[in-house]
Amino acid sequence: MNHDWKASAERLAITMLGGEPDRVPLTFLASEDIASRISGLTVREMLTSPEKLAAVSIETCEVLGADSASVVVTPYCGPYEGLAFAKANGMAEEFEWKDYSAPFIREGAVCNRVPDVAQLEIPDHSRVEPWPTLLRAAAIVAERTGIPATFAPSLTWSSIQMLRGSQAYADVIENPEFLLALCEKIYASQWDYYQAFCSIVGKPFFVFNCQYAFNRTMLRFEDAWRFEGQFVSRFCKQVGLPLAIHNCGFDPYWNEMIERHIAEGVDVIMVNGSHPLDLDRWVDFREKYPQIVIMGASIFVNGELENGKPGDVMERARENIERLGPFGRFVLSPVCCMPWRIPLANVLALREAVDTYGRYPMQGPATDA
Ligand SMILES: [Zn+2]
Repeated sequence: MNHDWKASAERLAITMLGGEPDRVPLTFLASEDIASRISGLTVREMLTSPEKLAAVSIETCEVLGADSASVVVTPYCGPYEGLAFAKANGMAEEFEWKDYSAPFIREGAVCNRVPDVAQLEIPDHSRVEPWPTLLRAAAIVAERTGIPATFAPSLTWSSIQMLRGSQAYADVIENPEFLLALCEKIYASQWDYYQAFCSIVGKPFFVFNCQYAFNRTMLRFEDAWRFEGQFVSRFCKQVGLPLAIHNCGFDPYWNEMIERHIAEGVDVIMVNGSHPLDLDRWVDFREKYPQIVIMGASIFVNGELENGKPGDVMERARENIERLGPFGRFVLSPVCCMPWRIPLANVLALREAVDTYGRYPMQGPATDA
């Protein structure tokens, strides 16, 4: 192994704090698909022990040339939260394992079979597998690489969609009280997840939450706030941690969402998304929110990464780095998870791009200041 994890950890920490690292950090949302391709293992083979999962995770991140090190299962509470709910409610058979990609629970199955939300049992994340394995693996990865483990809950819409399915969109109009009760259950479950995380991995530095509801293509802003945002704000205040927001939708309410969280007293420290694809709008974002780390910008997994050549990926990365790198607080990161159909040569071009174009000091606004 010749990956310099100490350098990666420093690069990330300096960037998060607004300083000037040696180069733009590169991170990935490394998940089952890419880990299977690199390791040759099925997902269930990876999950056989914390040690095994940790080893595959580090190997995958090293092959990708990443500065991030994370457990290579869907990098938020996601499908395994669905599995935990299914197991806690005696319906593990509703969960579908796949050999070489992310597993999923049949959408809506849990709430169809337990229609009274009050009857829904909350999983114990310190006991229900694969959570103990995932959390122990996260602790091992953090210890070996020096990169703090990411605490990534799923408050709330991603969980709602798993548990309730597309019926949730009708519920917003027809059955909001049901949905709010489900949000409270999800909140309680994520609170249990947080406690399990703290006891096995340690207290995280921030909450890295997936906020799928906040998309113009999904819900009105006020509904997104009602069924997701208010729970995220409450959670951050209750645990006393700042918020990093993942949103891989096509039209996120970035500004409105951030303003509302700030108004609620939440410290928003990072955004992780690929849209808008128009870099001018990310430059506007950078000017409006100089303190917020941009992890991503317009490196969309279904853009050049999927359809282009390595040279096209390099070019897109170069534009991102040149427009946003000089301001600092910028991390190059493709969003979201990388499916099988993305050529590995394209993925590896991102590392070449940060090595080629991402060195500091950089010409631009940061050096003019
Ligand atoms: Zn995503």
